[in-house]
Amino acid sequence: MTTPTTIDEHHHASLGANAKLPAAQQPEWPDQAAVQEVRRTLAAQPPLVFAGECDVLTNHLAAAARGEAFVLQGGDCAETFENVTAENIRNRVKTLLQMAAVLTYGASLPVVKVGRMAGQFAKPRSSTTETRDGVTLPAYRGDMVNAFDFTPEARTPDPQRLLHGYHASASTLNLVRAFTTGGFADLRHVHDWNRGFIANTANTRYEGLARDIDKAMRFMSACGADFDAMRTTEFFAAHEGLLLDYERPMTRVDSRTGDLYDTAGHFIWVGERTRGLSDAHVDFVSRIQNPVGVKLSQNASADDVAELIERIDPQRRPGRLTFITRMGAGRVREALPGIVEAVRRTGATVTWICDPMHGNTFTSASGYKTRDFEDVVEEVRGFFEVHRELGTVPGGIHVELTGNDVTECVGGAERIADADLSQRYESLCDPRLNHQQSLELAFLVAEMLATD
Ligand code: PEP
Ligand code: MN
Repeated sequence: MTTPTTIDEHHHASLGANAKLPAAQQPEWPDQAAVQEVRRTLAAQPPLVFAGECDVLTNHLAAAARGEAFVLQGGDCAETFENVTAENIRNRVKTLLQMAAVLTYGASLPVVKVGRMAGQFAKPRSSTTETRDGVTLPAYRGDMVNAFDFTPEARTPDPQRLLHGYHASASTLNLVRAFTTGGFADLRHVHDWNRGFIANTANTRYEGLARDIDKAMRFMSACGADFDAMRTTEFFAAHEGLLLDYERPMTRVDSRTGDLYDTAGHFIWVGERTRGLSDAHVDFVSRIQNPVGVKLSQNASADDVAELIERIDPQRRPGRLTFITRMGAGRVREALPGIVEAVRRTGATVTWICDPMHGNTFTSASGYKTRDFEDVVEEVRGFFEVHRELGTVPGGIHVELTGNDVTECVGGAERIADADLSQRYESLCDPRLNHQQSLELAFLVAEMLATD
């Protein structure tokens, strides 16, 4: 595997060609010269990921599209600089590994582990400003743009934050790589952690499945299984490729092939608010060789998906394009079939992933932005039903979660209620499943996969 070289003049030009396209959701940086300076600095930094790793992920996503693997994507809605700590990263990786172990058993398939991590520092917002007590300031757009405090200084976009974001991503990814290859990810530990989940009396419903996994583990160990795959795991980094002032300078030429790769993460997705067909984000991801995703709400049309495929995957390469649907528990059964049929007509093999979070957000009676665990489960159920009905493949799930015991989403076996949300609501953006709710979701999806 060769190191991607810093982008050369020719490719600067080819990426620059799209600089004139409209780009939604970009910060209004007060000083353009400062942004250009930061972009030059970023362009000289080492890549965070290698082209060859991105290609490996493309192959795994192609396997998921064929039903030969299952994808687990998860992490914070928005990472914050303050939360880049060993404990937070460990808890999130641990939660994802625990979920993956349960899903692997349920699906009898390899699980492709992808963190919404090491780059998920920028957010699209429904309003460009926020007003409190008659004072209007720019909206918080994520730590890579501005700070959350409601003061003019904090909310003014600061391009130095792009650099801080790069370093925060680098140290996150460094620890993730250490955890997943240095013994922490050993399947036997992961299984012991899951025993802890079942020991919680709220979770007795999952005892049967946990016992089956236990037996399988003992069987493997009796057989003397002690192979590398039990001790280490592949883990990939994904984020929304929102800030073009970050993603473009991180895009480099792969010296093996001359192709462009966004070296800020293995998998880059375009959000529901920035997937305009002639907009800069779709153009950008069409130029990079990383596997890419596009979020689709219930508002996506058959023409939208056909045109997205035309632009992003003209060669119909399995693994190249993932559609992450986020339609809402009450709408998925109605809205998804037309989209799946439209994709089928194009001849493309896309990877279908269910994001059961973003179509199920509401404001609780006490005023918190929340989600109901039941709705999350119900959307995944609808997603599986639609794909089973149409003979297509439900390839994975995409979840906003944390490894900590926050109270941001209601429901789950611990029955978090509206009145509990104030106890530990920490997200600056969307509500996340906590550690227990994440594991419970994994057990429920494992049951759906086992009957698939
Ligand atoms: C997100 O993933 O946090 C997000 C904003 O999603 P979407 O683009 O689907 O709304
Ligand atoms: Mn979100």
